[in-house]
Amino acid sequence: MNFVSTRGNVSEIGFIDTVLMGLANDGGLLVPEKIPQIPAEKLQAMSQLTYQELAYEIFSYYVDGEIPDNELKELIEKSYATFRHPEVTPVQKVKDNMYVMELFHGPTFAFKDIALQFLGNLYSYVSKKTGETIHILGATSGDTGASAIEGVRGKEGIRICILHPHGKVSKVQELQMTTVHDENVLNLAIRGTFDDGQRIIKELFADVDFKNKYHLRAINSINFVRILAQTVYYFYAYFQVTKETGEQKVNFSVPTGNFGDIFAGYLAKKMGLPVGKLIVATNENNILERFIQDGVYQPGEFRSTYSPSMDIQVASNFERYLYYLLDENPSAASALMDQFKSEGKIVVNEEQLRQVKKDFAAHGVAGEECLQTISKYYAESKYLLDPHTACGVAAYETCNEPNEVCVTLATAHPAKFNESIERCDIEQTFPEQISALFDKPQYQEVVDADNDEIVRQLEKLFSFSNS
Ligand SMILES: *Cc1c(COP(=O)(O)O)cnc(C)c1O
Repeated sequence: MNFVSTRGNVSEIGFIDTVLMGLANDGGLLVPEKIPQIPAEKLQAMSQLTYQELAYEIFSYYVDGEIPDNELKELIEKSYATFRHPEVTPVQKVKDNMYVMELFHGPTFAFKDIALQFLGNLYSYVSKKTGETIHILGATSGDTGASAIEGVRGKEGIRICILHPHGKVSKVQELQMTTVHDENVLNLAIRGTFDDGQRIIKELFADVDFKNKYHLRAINSINFVRILAQTVYYFYAYFQVTKETGEQKVNFSVPTGNFGDIFAGYLAKKMGLPVGKLIVATNENNILERFIQDGVYQPGEFRSTYSPSMDIQVASNFERYLYYLLDENPSAASALMDQFKSEGKIVVNEEQLRQVKKDFAAHGVAGEECLQTISKYYAESKYLLDPHTACGVAAYETCNEPNEVCVTLATAHPAKFNESIERCDIEQTFPEQISALFDKPQYQEVVDADNDEIVRQLEKLFSFSNS
């Protein structure tokens, strides 16, 4: 299996090199040269597997022998052994035609754990095999940082630096990241937004000499392995729900920020999973909703919302979708990305827009609607939605037809976002792992969102690691 860049100037690298490269060296994103097709009989057989067995089957198409089978199995076992639910991502029926897939049973109570526990173990594996020190640089809107730090804290051969927007993450997200005091972890709270953090890391990764000199590795969803690990639960949920309902097709409603999780669903569909509609749920930072309605991709004004992990204007995985929308033509994708850089927007033509609307439905959820959805489902179904999941549920209500079955992805546990839950006058009990965070001291540096400042901080962390 080979991987190529959406911009055409990286070709034919294998799985491990794809993971290590993160952002493609030409500034694009890495995608499989050819998406593997899973035949119907194979799908049928897969429907009986446990989560871990299913992950192994799906990963194998992409790893393609680069990791020996027994070692890949061990990596998967280890990555999901820390989850609190035996099914890893259990599916719960909440309403007649709506199921919630709970993706928050990992160590940091958000879906990011599903890919990042695996990626942390994979980096550790590569570092042991090659003797290479791994320096991770990532930006977070809150959950990626917590999960990536949890995945690698204290691990030999790995250092991690995470940028989060100062004061713009929830209290629990901040505590999960900053109460970690291992020597290999550096938290930088930047004065700015997630988009500033993401822009800085993309610029630093695009400087190939700098990236190679420091062995910089990515944990954001620019890294293809994040997407791959997330395709697994689409298959898992599909099998559980079709067994129960006898339906052939299942819609998915996905709370979306960086377009990573929904792109994983798109990839699962392209691999042959009979997915119906993919519903893009956004909050008031609704660039993706606007794109799907009118074909113009243009950032609006940043808004702080009740669902801060989706407070994102520039969705980096959008480029992967664009590449497929343009029939896998890297010159066309590069031209549009250049246009985005110079003019600040991308406009697709009518035929392309028709395709976009075939691929996705979308709904941008306003603040009040988010809170009302939490209150309503708590009252009617005794199910407490976190504010991101509530956006997903509100989008299901808008975009799903009564005769269709929908799985809404529950991307976080409500305890992570008590600021929003309190506004609904709901009192929740925190899981003990979360209550324990409030007594711990915090470690972070507050810095300007400035490339040079970040480089200075990185050099401090890395010189420590070289000593
Ligand atoms: C990251 C995150 C999202 C958005 O996921 P993307 O892959 O960035 O689209 C949604 N909900 C929660 C709780 C998250 O942490």
